[in-house]
Amino acid sequence: MDMRQEEITQNLQEVRRRIQRACERVGRDPGEVTLIAVSKTKPLADLQAAYGAGARDFGENKVQEILEKAPAMPEDARFHMIGHLQRNKVRQVLPHAVLIHSVDSVRLAQQIQQEAERLDRTADILLEVNVAGEESKFGFSPEETEEAVKTISRFPQLRIRGLMTIAPFVDDPEENRGIFQKLYQLSVDIKKKNIDNVTMNVLSMGMTGDYEVAVEEGATMIRVGTGIFGAR
Ligand SMILES: *Cc1c(COP(=O)(O)O)cnc(C)c1O
Repeated sequence: MDMRQEEITQNLQEVRRRIQRACERVGRDPGEVTLIAVSKTKPLADLQAAYGAGARDFGENKVQEILEKAPAMPEDARFHMIGHLQRNKVRQVLPHAVLIHSVDSVRLAQQIQQEAERLDRTADILLEVNVAGEESKFGFSPEETEEAVKTISRFPQLRIRGLMTIAPFVDDPEENRGIFQKLYQLSVDIKKKNIDNVTMNVLSMGMTGDYEVAVEEGATMIRVGTGIFGAR
């Protein structure tokens, strides 16, 4: 094993251990938590090293990087689109993305519907919620999310699987606990409405700095970049 492979393997093992411990603290099954290795800006060799250490889910925030990396990885590697998606890039990315986490407008959802229809398939999506109301972030406000879910649920080829949030950058992860609780509660409230085409089983929240708190608060997908691949 070369040094980079070894480093990535150890990092992945450490993240998995921490997920397991977070699950134990709150009585969750670690099998409910999917670790997404956020490989943006990293070379293919790093993704291959992570794959060799068992990673199958990769997160990218640029369409161009998914287009380059996805075809070069083994068939069972899954790519998640986690960054802001422009409508004119939907056509390119849809065939390569297993899940689009960052649906932040009805117009974008409509574009995904159009492309899914063209490809005669369905598309799995999450709605991005700007829980903290940060100016710099994309996403629906918590107040408008239920209405957006209802509107988007009428697009016949879209499957809303749940919600995603990017929490603020903080020094102490405890500061984000309330954000994660709020997203969890929002998903529970929406689930109760039993909207057709909507399942709400996925909560994509938590990054390198705060994923353990996110897991304690119900995350089913965590997106870890730096903690696996090192600084960007
Ligand atoms: C970059 C990124 C991450 C991973 O961030 P780290 O702090 O490196 O773990 C997670 N989610 C999104 C949406 C990102 O853009």
